[in-house]
Amino acid sequence: MQFKDIPSNVRVKSQLLHAVENNRLSHAHLFTGEDGSSSLAMALAFAQYLMCENKTASDSCGVCPACLKSEKLIHPDLHCVFPVITGKGTNPVSDHFIEEWRGAIASNPFMSEEEWYLNLGDTNKQGFISVYEANELSKKTVLKPYENSYRVIIVWHAEKMHNPAANKLLKLLEEPPEKTIFILLTSSSENLLETIVSRLQNTTIEPCDENNLTKYLMEIEGVEEKTASEISHLSSGSIGQALKLIKGSELLEQNTEEFQNWMRMCYKARIIELTSWVDMINRWGREQQKGFLHYALHMVRESLVRNFADSSIQKVREEEEQFTKNFAPFIHQNNAIEIIEEIELAHKHISRNGSSKFIFMDLTLKMVVLLHVKNLTLQETN
Ligand SMILES: [Zn+2]
Repeated sequence: MQFKDIPSNVRVKSQLLHAVENNRLSHAHLFTGEDGSSSLAMALAFAQYLMCENKTASDSCGVCPACLKSEKLIHPDLHCVFPVITGKGTNPVSDHFIEEWRGAIASNPFMSEEEWYLNLGDTNKQGFISVYEANELSKKTVLKPYENSYRVIIVWHAEKMHNPAANKLLKLLEEPPEKTIFILLTSSSENLLETIVSRLQNTTIEPCDENNLTKYLMEIEGVEEKTASEISHLSSGSIGQALKLIKGSELLEQNTEEFQNWMRMCYKARIIELTSWVDMINRWGREQQKGFLHYALHMVRESLVRNFADSSIQKVREEEEQFTKNFAPFIHQNNAIEIIEEIELAHKHISRNGSSKFIFMDLTLKMVVLLHVKNLTLQETN
C-alpha cells in the first residue's frame, strides 16, 4: 500500500511525512476513523514508507524488496494484530489467521470489521484481542528488527483488546522497544484505556469527500461515472462501504445470470450441463453460495407474487422482468412450498459446513423433478 493509493486525507499524509523528514517521529500512534475508513490503509502505507529502501519525500517507491514484502504483508518487521474468533484451537492469536488476513486486505484494504468476520466464515461471533496476543508481541519485540530499519506493529480495532492485553501493551508503550513504531487503529477511542490513549499521538482519519471518492471509483475500480457518483453519495465518504456496494451489485448480477441458467437447465433436465454447473458453484466461497440461495428464494417468491397477486407489487429489477414472466407459470400451488423448503434446507446445510457439491447436486436433482410437477388446478379448469 502506498500513500498514493489512498484518495483522501492529504493533511494526515503530509504530517506523517514531515515527522519522518524532521526526525520527530512518535513511536506510538493512534489513528481514529470510522469502521471502513482509510485508517488501516493509511497505517499500511505509513509502515511501508518507513521500511522502504528508496523512499521519496512523498511516498514509498513501491518496487524495492522491502516495499514488495510490505505489499504482500510478509515483511518480517511488519506485525499486524487484529480481532480473531474462537474455533482455531485454544488461545487464538492473529498469526493463526494470517493467511485469511492477507487475502482479505488484498481484496479490500478498507474493509469493515464485519467484512473481516465474514472472511473468517462467521458473522455471529465477536472478535477479540486476548492477552496471548500481547504475550506474542512482547516476545517479537525482544529481538532487534530483522532488516535494519523500523519494526511496525499495527493493531487494528484496538478497542477489541481485553483488559489484560491492553495492560500488557501499555507496558510495551511505556518502555518502547528499539526502533519500533506502534500504530493503534480504532473507530471508538472511548473504548480504549485512557492510560493507553494518553501515550499515543492521535490522528483523525477523515471520511473521503464525495468528489474524490467518485474519481477513485472511476479510476481504480473502473466504475462508470453515474454509478460512481451514486455510490459515493450513498456511502457517505466511506471507501470500504463504497467498495462493498460495488461488490454487492456485481454479485447481484452474477446471481441473476446463474439463477436463470440453472433454472433453464433444470427445466430441460440437462444433467451433464447441470453437473458442470454444480462444479462451478462448488468453487464459490460459502458466503457467496449462501447469497445465491437467498437470491433463489427471492426469485421463487417473486414468481409466486406474480401468479397470485397484482404484478405491480412485484419487486424485480428490469433485467429480471422478462425471466420471471416466463418462469412464474412453473411455480405454483403444487410445487412452491416444496421448492422453498428445499432451498431453505440447502442454505441451512451450507451454513453448517456440509459438502457444497453434494448439497447443490441434491438440490439440483430435486429442482428438476419439482419444476416438472403439473399445476393440477390449471389442468382441471382447462
Ligand atoms: Zn520501496
